[in-house]
Amino acid sequence: MKFKELAVYFQRLESISKRLDMTDILAELFQKASQDKKVNIEEIVYLSQGHLLPSFKNIEFQMSEKLIHKSIVLATGKPDELIEDMFQRIGDYGEVAQKLCKIYIENLSITDVYKKLTELVGFSGAGVVVKKTEFLADLLKSISPIEVKYIIRIILGKLRLGVGDPTFLDSLSLAYSGDKNLRKHLERAYNLCCDLGLVAKILFSEGIERIKGFEVIVGCPIRMALAARMPGAKEIIEKIGTCAVEAKYDGFRCQVHKNGKEIQVYSRNLENTTHMFPEIKEGTLAQVKNKNVIYEGEAIAYDPQTGECLPFQTTVQRKRKHGIASMRKLFPLKLFVFDLLYADGDLTDKSYEQRRKILTSVIGKGDVLEVSPVHIVKTARELENIFEESLREGREGIVAKRLDGVYKAGGRNFNWIKLKSSYSGELNDTIDCVIVGYYFGKGLRASLGLGSLLACVYDKKSETFKTIAKIGSGLTEDELVKFKKMLDKIKVNSKPPKVDSLIEPDVWVEPKYVIEVQADEITRSPVHTCGKAQDKDSGYALRFPRTVDKIREDKDAQDATTVNENINLFKMQGRKT
Ligand code: AMP
Repeated sequence: MKFKELAVYFQRLESISKRLDMTDILAELFQKASQDKKVNIEEIVYLSQGHLLPSFKNIEFQMSEKLIHKSIVLATGKPDELIEDMFQRIGDYGEVAQKLCKIYIENLSITDVYKKLTELVGFSGAGVVVKKTEFLADLLKSISPIEVKYIIRIILGKLRLGVGDPTFLDSLSLAYSGDKNLRKHLERAYNLCCDLGLVAKILFSEGIERIKGFEVIVGCPIRMALAARMPGAKEIIEKIGTCAVEAKYDGFRCQVHKNGKEIQVYSRNLENTTHMFPEIKEGTLAQVKNKNVIYEGEAIAYDPQTGECLPFQTTVQRKRKHGIASMRKLFPLKLFVFDLLYADGDLTDKSYEQRRKILTSVIGKGDVLEVSPVHIVKTARELENIFEESLREGREGIVAKRLDGVYKAGGRNFNWIKLKSSYSGELNDTIDCVIVGYYFGKGLRASLGLGSLLACVYDKKSETFKTIAKIGSGLTEDELVKFKKMLDKIKVNSKPPKVDSLIEPDVWVEPKYVIEVQADEITRSPVHTCGKAQDKDSGYALRFPRTVDKIREDKDAQDATTVNENINLFKMQGRKT
């Protein structure tokens, strides 16, 4: 199959926004590709996602717009100014190059292009910039304009076909069996390895039975289980009965994979953060005896003088690319281990009780890893006591866990229920919102260039972002300036297709950054689209919203609080913990 054909599919996908249509087009693509023996289906999946490998592999082209610009100059012989001028007008180097690159020699297959892009990523050492620009220029000279457009977008990380993971899964099922009934098996496998390409490859080469029996792979991150919310201890006991209660630590989630001496640490959004936390690597090697293990915990910085745990704002400073050694001395980490997903075999289908039993035998004594203490409670009173104690110890609240609950990868469900301290307002939890645009503001704020943010939550069903608030509080002047700079890098000319909004900000941005927002309450509102699908007259809005945490780097746009969670929070309001 030729790459040109794939580019035409990209163009078709780009021109539509309805999920069902996208599913049909992708299914057609996968079906066609699966009949061609020369095609590696995983390459199609990764390229359609805008990558060369699953994103947790952190493969980057390391080519800026400036370098792309140079390659276009080299490939076309057109003057710098003309290209710059076109870019200013069009705002997309993919389209600029498509218009200028007219020389068309080869008819490359998908695998040829995939190999060339892999080669491009692999350049290193002296003269790497020149090597990359020249290599790309040669590639641009040999392919057709439509291919040029999408290759440049992939290299810049801007393919953005708007296809979400559920759409991929539906279309794989449709392509393989003619209906979407296999989606649940494919989704389970995907949640266990976070590698859609691998799932597609196994499906088409080994069949659905292998997918049904899919097990976790040490080294491939597992999509993390998330906690549901309930208003109070009484409701929790009514829902799950006798349960295990652990403190809710306010740090960052780590999923640690040990494969012999190889250690990988994944963040909540499955980024490979191993290099940031050398003590977790050392601690795992020193304290975990089994050869192959996957465990999860919450990392918190502590004061090396007193041993006391430090607040989230301090812990989060450990998430950095540079200055790791000095920060480690200042704020070393402790990892409170709370779950075990693999120990020389897959444990995700075992009950919480069984996993915990094995966990205590797997984690040995030492300075970094500490198994989180558990209390088994039968009554709401007992649960409340532990909740209070946890708050006194400076924790964020508790997480109650169903004793017979399996580890449900990738889902928020009632196997884990979190209960947090009540804030002063009625709403007893923060909302994670995605920024989709900003307003210039008035007065001083106008001079800073940014007055308020348009914020959305995520609607899983339609895979779109629904507006819930305009946020003007919580950011200092310096932060407003920084936010503007950061958002301007991802601004787009019109409303992104995945955003559902009745209001128009001064500047639209790609839904990318998640901020944690506190509000006094959730109210009904005709202005916002959150919940409008459920109730045509009125959506939901945040009253007096303010940012409490800046960018939640551990969350992707799709990890924002969902519309359904907001509706549940709305119903829980006013019921005290
Ligand atoms: P939230 O981010 O508010 O949805 O709360 C769930 C998060 O709490 C998880 O993703 C973990 O990072 C964190 N957490 C802290 N302590 C625990 C614990 N004992 N068990 C599970 N999750 C915990």
